[in-house]
Amino acid sequence: MTAYLGWIGLTLSTEKTRIVNIADGFDFLGWNFRKYSGKLLIKPSKKNVQAFYRNVKEVISVKKTAKQDDLIRLLNPMLRGWAQYHRPVVATAAFTKMEHQIFCALWRWAKRRHRGKNAEWVRKKYFATIEARNWVFGTTTVDKKGDPFWLELYSLAGTQIRRHKKVRADYHPFDPAQEMYGEKLRQTRMSEDMSHRKQWIKLYMSQRGLCAVCQSKITKETGWDDHHIVPRVLGGSDALGNRVLVHPGCHIQVHHYGRIAVKPVLD
Ligand SMILES: [Zn+2]
Ligand SMILES: [Zn+2]
Repeated sequence: MTAYLGWIGLTLSTEKTRIVNIADGFDFLGWNFRKYSGKLLIKPSKKNVQAFYRNVKEVISVKKTAKQDDLIRLLNPMLRGWAQYHRPVVATAAFTKMEHQIFCALWRWAKRRHRGKNAEWVRKKYFATIEARNWVFGTTTVDKKGDPFWLELYSLAGTQIRRHKKVRADYHPFDPAQEMYGEKLRQTRMSEDMSHRKQWIKLYMSQRGLCAVCQSKITKETGWDDHHIVPRVLGGSDALGNRVLVHPGCHIQVHHYGRIAVKPVLD
């Protein structure tokens, strides 16, 4: 346990868990937290960046013979999602680097399809110059009605629009049966907001990275839900003292089978 706490930069004090040294940095929520000369810097974690690039490269290599517009349609939601996720943190450098890596992969993809053609021919077929932007991976395609339109690869550096998940039509926030749905919805919305992510980091650290129901580790693979110990419909507050992180499976057990989530008390 001590080694684990050391790794995430924590130590236990008598009253509470607190951060004493995060100079070595730690990863959580796909981000790396590190102190650089006294200032907390949060950026996409190396693991997250590598995993995302692997996924993109996988799609590009599987779609060797796909049409350009089909490839763009597959890549754009991935790029948009990744950009939105990292928007609250210092991600410009990561975005620029990622964009370059993806460009190189697409250039290889394009050249491999036309071995007999020279680079200039390949560039003209797959890349365009649009105002000040060079090498835009795009093509003219048709929409569902058959009307032509210009489709291009989503730009990580470009503007990102905030979108809210639509609320289920039959959702009543004060129906106890829908407490869990409400929690999930709130979590989705909160994930777009930096101050809420900071709350999860605090919860995660105060629980030493363990689920408040089964006491085993919460990881990227297991995932986690933000659970209110006293349900909001019964007047439970949104304060951290009333919230714990639990595995999604454990969360279902709490709401449907009466298992108990316990706020850890560190002594
Ligand atoms: Zn659990
Ligand atoms: Zn819950």
